[in-house]
Amino acid sequence: MSGEPQDDCLFCKIVEGHVPATIVRETETTLAFRDINPQAPTHILVIPKAHHVDAATLAAEAPQLAADVLRETQAVADEEKLESYRVVFNTGSGAGQTVWHAHAHVLGGRGLHWPPG
Ligand code: 5GP
Ligand code: ZN
Repeated sequence: MSGEPQDDCLFCKIVEGHVPATIVRETETTLAFRDINPQAPTHILVIPKAHHVDAATLAAEAPQLAADVLRETQAVADEEKLESYRVVFNTGSGAGQTVWHAHAHVLGGRGLHWPPG
């Protein structure tokens, strides 16, 4: 069921402490940790602790939690002293989503081109 921990979900395992991660921030409802394969000097993932498959599902099922995630992207950027940064929610395999637990990528620390690839 959406919102419940999923046995086969990598990010649920990180939330539960069963898979290690470099955690940079934690709130009651969210977790922020460094991406294992960084695409910029700062590359941090912000996730809801509860399992929702993607950002749109999260926004529809738990809008307050979606707001918590967005607020945390700003907190992460502040902590990393990023003046400019990009928040990305890859949604669907065609857009590069590989982990089916909603997550915001916070990218910064270098120039970011537009449009993205
Ligand atoms: P997506 O491709 O779904 O938008 O993003 C998933 C992200 O999770 C990727 O950027 C990938 O590098 C990251 N990732 C995959 N496995 C792990 C892991 O075990 N630990 C951490 N910290 N990040 C991971
Ligand atoms: Zn999950």
